[in-house]
Amino acid sequence: MEILVQSQNDILKILAAVCLVLGCFSLIIRYRAHSMKYSLVGVEFGAAALMIADLFAQYYNGDGSRFGFYAVRTACFFYYFLINFEILAFNRYIICLITGRGKLKEPPKGLKVCSLLSLSGIALIAVSQFTGVCYTFDSSNVYRRGSLFFLFFLITAASFVFQLINVVRFRKYISSSIRSALIVFMILPVISAVLRVFMRDFSILNMSIALTAIFQYIVALVDQNNILMKSASTDALTGLHNQYGFLAAVDRVKEQHDIRNYNTYYIDIARMGQFNKRYGSDNGDLIIKEFGLNIAAQLEKDEILGRLGGNFFIALVNKDNSEQFLNYLREVPVKIKIGDEIETINVSSVAGGYEISDKHIVSEHVIGNAALAANIAKNVMKKPFTYLTQEILEKINESRQLEERIPSALKDGEFLPYYQPKVDVDRMELCGAEALARWEYDNLVVSPAKFIPVMEKDDSICRLDFYILDRVCKDVAGWIEQGLEPPCISVNFSRRNLGNPVLAEEIHNVVVDNNIPEKYIQVEITETIDEYPLSYLKGVVEALQGYGINVAIDDFGTGSSSINLLREISFDVLKIDRQFIECRSEKERKLLEHIINIAHDIDSRVIAEGVEQMDQIKMLKDYGCGQIQGYVFDKPLKKSEFEERMKRKKYG
Ligand code: C2E
Ligand code: MG
Ligand code: MG
Repeated sequence: MEILVQSQNDILKILAAVCLVLGCFSLIIRYRAHSMKYSLVGVEFGAAALMIADLFAQYYNGDGSRFGFYAVRTACFFYYFLINFEILAFNRYIICLITGRGKLKEPPKGLKVCSLLSLSGIALIAVSQFTGVCYTFDSSNVYRRGSLFFLFFLITAASFVFQLINVVRFRKYISSSIRSALIVFMILPVISAVLRVFMRDFSILNMSIALTAIFQYIVALVDQNNILMKSASTDALTGLHNQYGFLAAVDRVKEQHDIRNYNTYYIDIARMGQFNKRYGSDNGDLIIKEFGLNIAAQLEKDEILGRLGGNFFIALVNKDNSEQFLNYLREVPVKIKIGDEIETINVSSVAGGYEISDKHIVSEHVIGNAALAANIAKNVMKKPFTYLTQEILEKINESRQLEERIPSALKDGEFLPYYQPKVDVDRMELCGAEALARWEYDNLVVSPAKFIPVMEKDDSICRLDFYILDRVCKDVAGWIEQGLEPPCISVNFSRRNLGNPVLAEEIHNVVVDNNIPEKYIQVEITETIDEYPLSYLKGVVEALQGYGINVAIDDFGTGSSSINLLREISFDVLKIDRQFIECRSEKERKLLEHIINIAHDIDSRVIAEGVEQMDQIKMLKDYGCGQIQGYVFDKPLKKSEFEERMKRKKYG
């Protein structure tokens, strides 16, 4: 005991220094909430100041000088004031822990009472400074307790008790580690207050407050770290793993099991946009959450589900349970609240699966490969599910190789137009042609079905279109020079070009630069206009027509807004798609007949493409379609072969 009393001042100095440093740290470090940061700053600096006030009080206690007279009184005032200030700051910290999103909206009454008690403690000390009711000094300037000292003691003890009760009462809002630490902290000053009765010469109560402040800082930091770690790996909406959490969980499975026994599934909720529109975005969030939690409920202990954001989930499922899992995925029942009613909707999804076969697979690849499969299922195969098969991988590889080769192929002129004749079936004469791009390399002719989808992924398709147009214009110029009579040649322009604000002008410039009259060139644009508003297409068509270049609508009848398109835009030519010519039923025949009639009625010419049989020619002729393009006459021809057709002109 004596040693303690002797080293009291040193202990106070050390505690003051530590609390000062921690106060500075609290100022620098970012916390979850500003209020939490400032309550911690207050606690730490308050504790440091309390230690310093205690030191001053000890030092000048009994100092009869004039300076000592004021110093000991000032120190004592701060000493008692800071005890209450500490309780206030601590109180603020507890309020921060138990209020906020998903917790209490308002601080509980008990803690408000605690704040009031501390404030009244401060008032009592202020009064005591002048009246000496709590503490006083004798003629030698030595500290003495006043008659109401017990009141101050009671206020302090009651504040701690109120805090303790509230921490216990609202424990569910406080993480377990911080809760137990808090309880220990609050019991510590209470115990030391009792001990103080027996250890009159030792500042045990103040020291325990400083220790509490130090522990509180450590626990707050650890708690914040835990929360950050958890939120870094948890999805806020569903409480499932996020991508990082999923990868960490996969790593754990890899350590404990053979990862080759598992498949991964990338799941994309279907029609999410429609759900949001129909039920509102709050219900949309609820659908995502319920969907995830329902799937999670199907999984075994060693299986994992994570949400990658939006409506995308990723699952690691044991191969033995995969079939059952996929069956469940077909239609996941999800409950939502519409008004007062609870409605169950069946949520389907598009998914991609990947069968893990490599024991040492990089965890990121289990997500990437399943995502690739889902992308293929959705955008290429238009199916709700596929596994990433060897065949699919080969196709992707092939398309990647093409992708890599395209820029140099464009530069080296490996693309060229083939010409597919259009025939006037009334006169059985060549009346036009469509330029169709072919890619010739290594003595191979690659069809557009392979390279167009790849080129449409970026803007290289636009470069191709202009390249083909230029080649066609040069060919036409050459034919005119040779004295041949070239017909109008139509050139395809991808709808990706619609993003170009000077598209019509640039097309016209190519024609003018090649010195050929505009009548030799027609532009074909496909009907689908999903990427750009109709007004863009309308602007381009009208501008081209203004330059004297005809525009045809390609693949007419395959889009979803064909009639609307005709209402808005006047095309020179309507090119009826092959699907419409096949005419397998009376209804389809009627439709074809009416489409041809509509074209005539709105002063558009009409041409049928993809005609393969003679009886189709007769039918189209009967319905009033006089121009035909199809294998029945010619396939797309090389330039030299097409020149022969131009010379011959007639079809038998
Ligand atoms: P499209 O513009 O609708 O061209 C008609 C397609 O139908 C051509 O396929 C043609 O060879 C084919 N075809 C013509 N008659 C028949 C027939 O009787 N039976 C069958 N089964 N098919 C027939 P191709 O040349 O493979 O071109 C496919 C598509 O690629 C074109 O469809 C067009 O959308 C696109 N394409 C071709 N060249 C270009 C180009 O230079 N630029 C752009 N943007 N797209 C192009
Ligand atoms: Mg075309
Ligand atoms: Mg077409």
